[in-house]
Amino acid sequence: MAERVIPLVDQRISGLAAPRPVQPIPATGQLADRLHRPLRDLRISVTDRCNFRCSYCMPKEVFDKDYPYLPHADLLSFEEITRLARQFVAHGVRKIRLTGGEPLLRKNIEILIAQLAQLRTVDGQPVELALTTNGSLLARKARALREAGLQRVTVSLDGLDDTVFRRMNDVDFPVAQVLEGIAAAREAGLGPVKVNMVVKRGTNEHEILPMAQHFRGTGTVLRFIEYMDVGATNGWRMDEVLPSAEVVQRLHAAFPLRALEPAAPGETAERWAYEDGAGEVGVISSVTQAFCGSCNRARLSTEGKLYLCLFASQGWDLRALLRGGAGDEEIASAVGAIWHQRGDRYSELRGQVPPDAGGARRRVEMSYIGG
Ligand code: SAM
Ligand code: SF4
Ligand code: SF4
Repeated sequence: MAERVIPLVDQRISGLAAPRPVQPIPATGQLADRLHRPLRDLRISVTDRCNFRCSYCMPKEVFDKDYPYLPHADLLSFEEITRLARQFVAHGVRKIRLTGGEPLLRKNIEILIAQLAQLRTVDGQPVELALTTNGSLLARKARALREAGLQRVTVSLDGLDDTVFRRMNDVDFPVAQVLEGIAAAREAGLGPVKVNMVVKRGTNEHEILPMAQHFRGTGTVLRFIEYMDVGATNGWRMDEVLPSAEVVQRLHAAFPLRALEPAAPGETAERWAYEDGAGEVGVISSVTQAFCGSCNRARLSTEGKLYLCLFASQGWDLRALLRGGAGDEEIASAVGAIWHQRGDRYSELRGQVPPDAGGARRRVEMSYIGG
C-alpha cells in the first residue's frame, strides 16, 4: 500500500522563544521595524479548521480526516487573544481582522468579538474590527456578529457558476448559500462588504466578468487576488497566476475603469472606479507587484505564534509567555523587540531565492496563520 506523504514540515512544533529584553520596550504606539514600517494591522487566526477544501489553500489530499489539527487545549482562549491584542493595540495597531481556517467555525466567536470591540487605539478610537470568511455560515450568523461589535466582513468567493464554485471549494458547497450570506451581511450592516476572488488561470478566469457584472452597482466591492505561493501544499505554479494587469485589461474592455487613490497607507488593493459610476473594484497583486515596502501587518496564529510575514517559516511563541505567567509589560516588550528586528520582504525577493533553497517546504500554511 502506498504510504501517505504529508509534504509539510510541521511548523507548529517549533516556535521561536519570545525575547525578554533587559530594557523594557514600553508600548507608545510608535513602533517601527528595521525597514521603518509601523505596526498597524493584526490578523488573528481563530481556528486551523475549515469546512471547505479550496485546492489553493487546503488541498483534500493533505487536509484529510487524518490531518493533525491542533487540539483544543493548544488554541489561544478568547481571554488570551484579547490580552495579546491589547498589547498590539497599545503598540499602534488600529485594525484587527479575524480569520482562519474558517473563523465562523470557532464556537461562540461573538464573545471574542465583543471583547475585542472594547479595545481602544492609542488615539482613543475603537479598533476597526473585521472578519474574513468563506461565507458558508454567514446567513445564520451575520446579525449576531454585528450585534457583538463586528464592523465589516470580507467574503471569499471564487466564481458565480455553481459548477465552478463547487469544484473550487471541493466539498460541493453551493454558491447560492454564499450569496445569501453576502446579502445577510449587507442587511445586518456589516458593510461595505468586500468579496475576494482568487483567480487561477485556466480554472476560474472565465468568472472574472460575470463576477464584475454581478457586483457592479451593488455597493459590494469585488477584489481579484493573484494566486499566491503560500504554504507548502498547494503545488503552486507561476503559469497558473493571472497577473492583475491582465485582469484590469479584461475588466476595462467590458466596463471602462479609472484608477483611484489608495484609501489608506499600506493598503494592499489597487482600486479602480467604474467610469459609469457603478462603484469600484480592486486587484491585489501579491505576486506581480510586491507591496512589502508598506507592509504593516502582523499575524497571530491559532496557537499564539506571532508571524511577521505571510511567507515566514517560523513564528514567535507568545503563548509560552502568556502561560508562563508574564505580565502585560513583559508581553509588550517582547512584541516591541520582535517588531524592531523585523526585516521580512518575501514578495520583493520572490524569484531571487533558488528553487532548491527549501523555502517552500518550510513555509507555514495559510489556513494556520490566516490570510
Ligand atoms: N476561510 C476564510 C476565507 O476563505 O475567507 C478565511 C481564511 S482564508 C485562508 C483567507 C483568504 O486567503 C481567502 O480570501 C482565500 O481566498 C485566500 N487564500 C488562500 N490561499 C490562497 C492562495 N494560495 N493565493 C491567494 N489567496 C489565497
Ligand atoms: Fe478554507 Fe478559506 Fe482556505 Fe478555502 S481559503 S480552504 S475557505 S481557509
Ligand atoms: Fe508583507 Fe511578507 Fe507579504 Fe511582503 S511578503 S507584503 S512582508 S506579508
